[in-house]
Amino acid sequence: MKRVYNFSAGPSVLPLKVLEDAQTDLVSYKNAGMSVMEMSHRSADYSIIINEAKADFKELLNIPDNYEVLFLQGGASTQFSMVPMNIGLKGKAQYVNTGVWSKKAIAEANKMGIDVDVIASSADKTFSYIPKIDDSMIDTDADYFFITSNNTIFGTSFSTLPDTKGVPVVADMSSDILSKPINVEDYGIIFAGAQKNMGPAGLTVVIVRKDLIGKASDSVPTMMNYSTHADNDSMFNTPPTYSIYMAGLVFKWLKELGGLKAIQKINEEKAAILYDYLDSTEFYTTPVVKDDRSLMNVTFVCANVELNDGFVKGAKEKDLVNLKGHRLVGGMRASIYNAMPIDGVKALVDYMKEFEKANK
Ligand code: PMP
Repeated sequence: MKRVYNFSAGPSVLPLKVLEDAQTDLVSYKNAGMSVMEMSHRSADYSIIINEAKADFKELLNIPDNYEVLFLQGGASTQFSMVPMNIGLKGKAQYVNTGVWSKKAIAEANKMGIDVDVIASSADKTFSYIPKIDDSMIDTDADYFFITSNNTIFGTSFSTLPDTKGVPVVADMSSDILSKPINVEDYGIIFAGAQKNMGPAGLTVVIVRKDLIGKASDSVPTMMNYSTHADNDSMFNTPPTYSIYMAGLVFKWLKELGGLKAIQKINEEKAAILYDYLDSTEFYTTPVVKDDRSLMNVTFVCANVELNDGFVKGAKEKDLVNLKGHRLVGGMRASIYNAMPIDGVKALVDYMKEFEKANK
């Protein structure tokens, strides 16, 4: 069986151990005589699966009891409108514009009638940095303050949060959730699509502080109301059962590895291999400001941009796939999520050196 090194931004590489465990149980899960895909979401076997997944997720992120974990569908994109529907009571919110995903979140909030105050933006330099947020910029009368913690397309990442003086921080953590420990209590709502660091697509995880639930107006559709899902243990309707099962396996894999501190160390090591090499050569450049570099999505270009396509093509021949940058940015992007082995990053740097030598 051949496995390539898959640098896709998402859906993306999963731990081999997880795929193998799923394979073992694919046709008949333990003693159930059926696949997890065929189980009722209300069966005894499935209850154990979903409850363990939730408990392991809470343990990994050290989520306090005053937060609810919801397993939803609709992708992170649906949260762009669910957040304002559920907590945009006064009708005003502050957003930081750090790229495509923030812009989409802003557009949805506007549609929901929110008076959106974009307090900072890095649009002036093609989103190559994270704008500085001074505490004095926070409007204490806003319903919430919204950031995209890691910008999948541009390869930037927040490293600090302002003191919002009680205004709930909402973070789209789609592309860096579970990559390092965080203090959940710094946030009112965290949400993420599963398809980068948690499992296959289809599952969206929302962590929401309990006091922020139950505020939505009666006109909010049932499925869009956090209360519906909180009151029904994410079982109001059929949850994405197989994606939750797979995410549960990923959570167990992470726990066995030593949890988020351990994976952070590995992620820092992997990113350093790439960034150190990028810093050591003029053949490639990375557009992102050093302090704001993402550990998950590393963007770079050949200084001679005409070489970019050849780089991607040559990489594919070496089984280093999905390195083409997002169409808006061009160049290359190596997504090195939790499940990307360090050997994959080493193989990429070896290839980069080889390509440099051949094209200098
Ligand atoms: N936010 C971020 C930061 C993302 O990277 C993505 C997907 N790449 C999304 C939101 C949208 O997620 P989904 O496709 O799950 O709606």
